[in-house]
Amino acid sequence: MQSEPQAFDRVLSSMCTDPHPAARDAAERFLATNPGDPGSYPAVAALEDDAIELLSDIAGLDEPAGYITSGGTEANIQAVRIARERADSRTPNVVMPDSGHFSFRKAADLLGVELRIVPTDDDHRADLAAVRSAVDDDTAAVVGVAGTTEYGRVDPIPELSRLARSVDATLHVDAAWGGFVLPFTDYDWHFGHAAVDTMSIDPHKMGQAAVPAGGLLVRSPDLLDELAVDTPYLESTSQATLTGTRSGAGVASAVAAMEELWPEGYRRQYGRSQNNAEWLADALEKRGYAVAEPALPLVAADVPRSTFDALRANGWRISRTATGELRVVCMPHVSREMLASFIGDLDRLEVRASVPVASDD
Ligand SMILES: *Cc1c(COP(=O)(O)O)cnc(C)c1O
Repeated sequence: MQSEPQAFDRVLSSMCTDPHPAARDAAERFLATNPGDPGSYPAVAALEDDAIELLSDIAGLDEPAGYITSGGTEANIQAVRIARERADSRTPNVVMPDSGHFSFRKAADLLGVELRIVPTDDDHRADLAAVRSAVDDDTAAVVGVAGTTEYGRVDPIPELSRLARSVDATLHVDAAWGGFVLPFTDYDWHFGHAAVDTMSIDPHKMGQAAVPAGGLLVRSPDLLDELAVDTPYLESTSQATLTGTRSGAGVASAVAAMEELWPEGYRRQYGRSQNNAEWLADALEKRGYAVAEPALPLVAADVPRSTFDALRANGWRISRTATGELRVVCMPHVSREMLASFIGDLDRLEVRASVPVASDD
């Protein structure tokens, strides 16, 4: 029997979504292409230039530079690699708030860099005093997150960039998830707002492209030179990417999604997702749960373990923060009807969960 992928109608935990129809179509057409070999696959290589131009427009970068990665993880690894190569230290470190993504642990491990994880403040944002006391002459990069994975928080990017400059480190902004909603908010998060050196921004999350399509952007092309290796058997002479053969489907679908949606389509989607997040936060608050206010379309709430488990057993794909809160990501496929049905189940199951066991046997 042929396997089928999951439906999206109960998926509240994913940072990926149903691709835009144009992105799906482009992915299918470009399945058998490899942007890692531009000499053999010039059409998709040209599309990658378009993708980087579009991403740069979204992220306030005047001179487009970067490449389409396999995702935020690869972009974060490569950003740490750039920082390490530029750092004038034999024992480089990277300073990151504890809200940073676990991919930086992989980066630190692979690259032999010390990862200094510093506390966040009461609102889950980078604590500037903690960052200030953690940076030193061996700091290669400071990481700021623009749209954290657990609470959707945006770190104070301009202040972090000044701290990074003060020790001659790069500032990396991880906007893997937030990059496609932040343009419609008042946050300072991009290359035009602060001295950002490198950024992760993933079309395959809020950008509605097919997986795999991540993005690494750099302030100037010479930063990519830090990554380049010679490529003897290819027509192109060097390669800055981490992987060799790459997904042309991801590149083509990223371009298709951005051409279709940037900026008005994304703006409308942000509005819908943010309204949904606020509606859900409100519904949960009314039921007495402690809710972390949704700064971006992501809701975290303190729901008892038994209720969480019962919801999962009822087919809801939900996840938890490190401290155990229910976490719902209001991705484009998450509709108001879905959330209303979720709250309906929550009400039903919460009552059951509080009924004393053994009452009827
Ligand atoms: C999802 C996410 C990542 C990892 O991206 P992948 O595409 O899963 O590799 C990194 N950083 C943040 C902030 C994310 O939300």
